[in-house]
Amino acid sequence: MTLPAHAQIVVIGGGIIGCSTAYHLARDHKADVVLLEQGQLTSGSTWHAAGLVGQLRSSASITRLLKYSVDLYKRLDAETGLATGWKMSGCLRLASTQDRWTEYKRLATTARSFGIEMELIGPAEVKRMWPLLQVDDLIGASWLPTDGQASPSDITQSLARGARMAGAKIHEGVKVMGFAMDGARITHVHTDQGVIACDRVVNCAGQWARQVGAMVGVTVPLQPVKHQYIITERIPGLSPDAATIRDPDRRTYFKEEVGGLVMGGYEPDPQIWTQGDIPDPWAFRLFDDDWDHFGQHMEQAIARIPALEQTGVKQMINGSESFTPDGNFILGRANACANMFVGAGFNAFGIASGGGAGWALAEWTMTGEAPLDLWVVDIRRFAGMHADRQWVADRTAEAYGKHYTVAFPHEEMSSGRPLITSPLYARLQAAGAVFGSKLGWERPNWFGPPGAQDVYAMGRQNWFAAVGAEHAQVREKAGLFDQSSFAKYELTGPGAAAALDRIAAGDVRKPPGRLTYTQMLNTRGGIECDLTVARLADDHFYIVTGTGFRTHDFGWIADHLTGDCTLRDVTEAWGTLSLMGPLARDILGKVAAGGPGSVENATFPFGHVRNLHVAGVTIRALRVTYVGELGWELHVPIAALGDVYDALMAASPDLRPVGYRALESLRLEKGYRAWSSDITPNDTPAEAGLGWAVKLAPGRDFIGRAALEKAGNAPLAKRFAGFTLANRDAVLVGRETILRDGQAVGYLTSGGYGYTIGQPIGYGYVRNPDGVTPEWIKSGSYTLVVTGDILPAQLNLAPFHDPAGQRVRA
Ligand SMILES: Cc1cc2nc3c(=O)[nH]c(=O)nc-3n(C[C@H](O)[C@H](O)[C@H](O)COP(=O)(O)OP(=O)(O)OC[C@H]3O[C@@H](n4cnc5c(N)ncnc54)[C@H](O)[C@@H]3O)c2cc1C
Repeated sequence: MTLPAHAQIVVIGGGIIGCSTAYHLARDHKADVVLLEQGQLTSGSTWHAAGLVGQLRSSASITRLLKYSVDLYKRLDAETGLATGWKMSGCLRLASTQDRWTEYKRLATTARSFGIEMELIGPAEVKRMWPLLQVDDLIGASWLPTDGQASPSDITQSLARGARMAGAKIHEGVKVMGFAMDGARITHVHTDQGVIACDRVVNCAGQWARQVGAMVGVTVPLQPVKHQYIITERIPGLSPDAATIRDPDRRTYFKEEVGGLVMGGYEPDPQIWTQGDIPDPWAFRLFDDDWDHFGQHMEQAIARIPALEQTGVKQMINGSESFTPDGNFILGRANACANMFVGAGFNAFGIASGGGAGWALAEWTMTGEAPLDLWVVDIRRFAGMHADRQWVADRTAEAYGKHYTVAFPHEEMSSGRPLITSPLYARLQAAGAVFGSKLGWERPNWFGPPGAQDVYAMGRQNWFAAVGAEHAQVREKAGLFDQSSFAKYELTGPGAAAALDRIAAGDVRKPPGRLTYTQMLNTRGGIECDLTVARLADDHFYIVTGTGFRTHDFGWIADHLTGDCTLRDVTEAWGTLSLMGPLARDILGKVAAGGPGSVENATFPFGHVRNLHVAGVTIRALRVTYVGELGWELHVPIAALGDVYDALMAASPDLRPVGYRALESLRLEKGYRAWSSDITPNDTPAEAGLGWAVKLAPGRDFIGRAALEKAGNAPLAKRFAGFTLANRDAVLVGRETILRDGQAVGYLTSGGYGYTIGQPIGYGYVRNPDGVTPEWIKSGSYTLVVTGDILPAQLNLAPFHDPAGQRVRA
């Protein structure tokens, strides 16, 4: 079959992800799709996958995609005539430690929050369901009846047939060699068999996706890792309907296959494969059996299933799979190329994800917007550091090694650190900082005595009291936060105001010297960005957003800019010190060249930006707060950050550095929303209680306005609300189910502890298909499901603590 000269969309890669994407593009969007596969369909990682299909993840959106996969695999054979091998065998996850058991109690709650049936059962019940298991060391297991297994190659062939039936053209034995570009836009795909002009490209090239991305300057930070499993001979007494088993405390998994078992695991010392290009050709290739390395899994598996000791091994599969630095896959469009969409890096759950990820990627490719909140897998969660192959390899190895360890709340990764440090690093270290890292930046989480470090726990952690003292410091005196990692951009030019006005839901056209706290919305009215805009001059805006959102928010703004203006990322040029607390004005007044008068409310009101002179430098002071106290964000030329910090610290014995964990507690009390958890592309400002920040002035036309207007004054289907618990010892971590009059109506998006009020605090959306009216929401009686226990909760729609009574940020 000769290649067409033109296609609307070229999909690269005939593994499960490419075939699923092509299927959805052709079936749902009637797109003109050509799929190119250098070898044969499935010949990359897909053919040798074990085929376990689990559904529950800590993100509601990813869980939704996995559920979508299961629904698709169940019915695909009826549509295409090719079976997928889907078997709803259910999944048992075994727990043999108390921490693991607590993890499962939380998981069961998460499952309930996300609408999945999951129960916890005791060892006797486990033994009844799976008689070959040794259960003496078990505390219990979680049971998820709707999980299952499928045949990776069969699903992929079935998807490919479905794609062809809907009009897609699939070419095997065609290798993509490069691209012709017009600026940042691909115009043609060059293959070893000819050239195809196209509008969009979808890079589903598996472990080759890094190489294919690099051809157009797109970083796809994945690392191939060797992953092994064995297939055993038949085991007498093993039921063909046996549930899949995950035994994370022994780092192993099992699946029934033709009377025997598939058994594999996640070792703490993974074998990173090539950091260069994938050898060519690499179709249907495996590595040699490596019993020395696999022995650790064998030992643990025999301890769990003693019958394995007498069972022969038919085959070892030692294959390569793409893993990523954070264990999540990679979807979407990177900033570097205007029309390449990526779906890769599936961390050994590409079969489970395939159906849903292909659906989402097809929608994203067609509309340019993710169809739901996919932040945890969005390619724009990465930054420049992810182009460093060694860093990616080290962090990926750590993430792989932790695949089956207990996931403690607030756990930090340790590899590849420190990477980026602020000029205050040594000073903060000397003050006892225990650092965390965010997008490469070292940031103080809390301050402790010399040698202090995190000790992770499922309940109260070792930093609880220290963070409480920092919290009180900010509420009672003043604290200094090093927030230099904030992402910062400058938008300049005669068209800057008009361009920003078209993207921001808030009123950014205020006069110079004013700040605007604003959201940027997608066409569904969902919140894509949540940031502060300072107007420095008529044609000059300074934009500040969260550390982790640097690439994403820059991309969102840049993509939607029109007219004569220029956007620049100036993150490294400016350090940020947030001076917060009732004494903030006194302290700033002492060091500001203009004296106390320059920071009085009359001269420097809330929601304003002014240049101040401190320690001989001109700094940008933004009067905002994320903690609910009087305060300023001081943006300092980075080289002078140390001098300004020293001047502030010397100005008052009542000032001390404070860390990010106290910041979290303070913002929870004040009710400030965090983008990516409390507010996401799934949530409109009205649902989030941020309707006041949207300016629907007549004649203003900003992205998302039409969707907000369409929703009109109809009752909201969900509403953001806060909860406190009378049980002061309960630990909230997020995803706890919200019950109203005993019925599940939502789950927590944030959870933590408010030290001033002395209670656990949670936030989440309360849902009602008939509309969440103020009367309805207030009239219910609320409880939260916390680690399996139902605890009475108090709903609150106002801040839990509001010392200044000032409006949010601007
Ligand atoms: C041992 C093992 C066990 C696993 N078990 C499971 C499991 O139980 N459950 C689960 O969900 N997942 C499992 N996985 C993971 C799963 O196999 C992968 O996540 C999935 O197959 C990835 O699919 P893909 O389409 O992204 O990549 P691939 O299947 O690798 O497809 C990418 C395709 O792109 C093609 N390509 C690359 N470059 C070009 C080019 N320049 N031009 C044209 N074509 C190109 C390649 O030839 C390849 O066929 C396992 C993986 C391994 C290694």
